[in-house]
Amino acid sequence: MIVTRFAPSPTGYLHLGHALAALTAFELAAKADGRFLLRIEDIDRARSKSQFEAAIREDLAWLGLSWVEPVMRQSDRLPAYRAALKELDDMRLLYPCFCTRREVAAEIARAGTAPQGPEGPLYVGTCRALSDEERRRRIAEEIPYALRLDSHAAQTRVGELSFHESGLGPRGERGRIAVNPLLFGDVVIARKEMPTSYHLAVAVDDACQGVTLVTRGNDLFAAAHVQRVIQALLGLPAPDYAHHRLVCDERGRKLSKRDRSASLRSLREQGVAPETIRSQLGLERISETPAMRRF
Ligand code: GLU
Repeated sequence: MIVTRFAPSPTGYLHLGHALAALTAFELAAKADGRFLLRIEDIDRARSKSQFEAAIREDLAWLGLSWVEPVMRQSDRLPAYRAALKELDDMRLLYPCFCTRREVAAEIARAGTAPQGPEGPLYVGTCRALSDEERRRRIAEEIPYALRLDSHAAQTRVGELSFHESGLGPRGERGRIAVNPLLFGDVVIARKEMPTSYHLAVAVDDACQGVTLVTRGNDLFAAAHVQRVIQALLGLPAPDYAHHRLVCDERGRKLSKRDRSASLRSLREQGVAPETIRSQLGLERISETPAMRRF
């Protein structure tokens, strides 16, 4: 059975790009008589607001979508993330990183040519070289730290991995994709203020919710590499992926939550109908199937 999900962060109002993501996931589930889930990704505690969560539900319902209740909220899931961190730590794959953002940037500048990752230059590994004694000293001094994945050690442990892409990556990637465990370098697995990062939470939650098909914008295509590594390390099942095109503004830039004019809320206020949104996005009418009504 196909289980898809739409996993927005409640840090602003949904826009047309979110509508495409939600409708794509919903349709794939409805066509296959599967299940469509909504998950609230609110680990950014400073930016997440309950009013945005309420608006997400309202906007999705207005679009004609329904989902399985209860909705999973990541801020309720911290014990599960801590358990996953412990597993990774027991495998000796994590190390504390005490660097501030500024120090990370300074190290990259000093290194001259730091390798590039999907989101910019990769962490050069300053804290990987600290002795156990130095780590203990800094922890005792209560210097805040994130936890990073030792990507080379993780690569050795997982061996060759792949994932299946049934949509399209940003460069037309499709089919069986070989995973590069070094793509994001020693990626942050737990933030300084949170016992998780985006990647760990997504991998743990997709598995917990039985998600079989991850649908989302292709700006997150690269993330599948690191998420697949985390799944393998934790012995979690591997979902398939269906990444879709992004919705861009008239200048060709990906829509962001700052583009108020493209928010579903403001379109609704202007009297735009959900059907118009669907056709603007190049989608047909939702077919009234029995599966749909069950969500
Ligand atoms: N929460 C992420 C976002 O709002 C999406 C995560 C995902 O679909 O994997 O961009």
